[in-house]
Amino acid sequence: MEQINARSIFSPATGYIRRGGFDWTCNPYVGCSYGCTYCYAMFLPQNRRPREDWGQWFQAKINAVELARKQAAKVAGQAIYLSSVTDPYLPAERSLCLTRGILETMLPHQPRLLIQTRGPLVMRDLDVIKRFHSIRVNMSIPTDSEKVRRTFESKAPPLERRWQALAEVKAAGVPTGICVTPMLPVENPEAFARRIIEFAPDVLVTQHFHDSGGGFGADTGAAARELLAQWQWTEEDYRRCVELLRQQRQVYEAEAGFFPPPT
Ligand code: SF4
Repeated sequence: MEQINARSIFSPATGYIRRGGFDWTCNPYVGCSYGCTYCYAMFLPQNRRPREDWGQWFQAKINAVELARKQAAKVAGQAIYLSSVTDPYLPAERSLCLTRGILETMLPHQPRLLIQTRGPLVMRDLDVIKRFHSIRVNMSIPTDSEKVRRTFESKAPPLERRWQALAEVKAAGVPTGICVTPMLPVENPEAFARRIIEFAPDVLVTQHFHDSGGGFGADTGAAARELLAQWQWTEEDYRRCVELLRQQRQVYEAEAGFFPPPT
């Protein structure tokens, strides 16, 4: 891990995040130690390292809390996406407490906050999180299979720990979202759909892998697409799983599902 001093901790939202209604993004880290094979962030211009190194490096914005203290007033009441190109609950966050410090600093200013993570460490901050008036915690749960999870995102937390964390978030009275984005191969679509429906998140987002021919967007790396082919998971399989979910509840697809919590 490297430590850097950032110039700003809130960046104007762009792309699908802006279109979704967010004003700002907040990324306490650059890069991401989870290193998901399909991550679009590895294509970003600020991550100028070899793509095969994605997941093997990250930088902590060590002045993030100090910056948030100076800049939090300007985001008061506005919609913030935490985080768009890293995960705010990387293992290093346990000791660095950058995300926690930013949350504490923003609290008096009550922005509308979306926390996007796959890190069970989010539970640690529930005491702060539940004091935001407009908030949602989105957890990425892209498959029902640990075998699949280990193939596509071997360094990310096990799925059951994510389910448990999200259950705690919900039990604390905080609105939740489940992001099946991108949907990885699912071993038992019926059981997976049933589990999601029974959990009843406030927002459910799904997405199939995209191949934008190397362009940026919801594109996924060639390595991830090759893995997908090896698992013989097709768009038809994805559609079938989405239909199972649709029989019981509303499903947002792709960027339509990334919007701020209501005021
Ligand atoms: S956790 Fe998110 S930012 Fe990190 S590698 Fe995975 S998809 Fe990318």
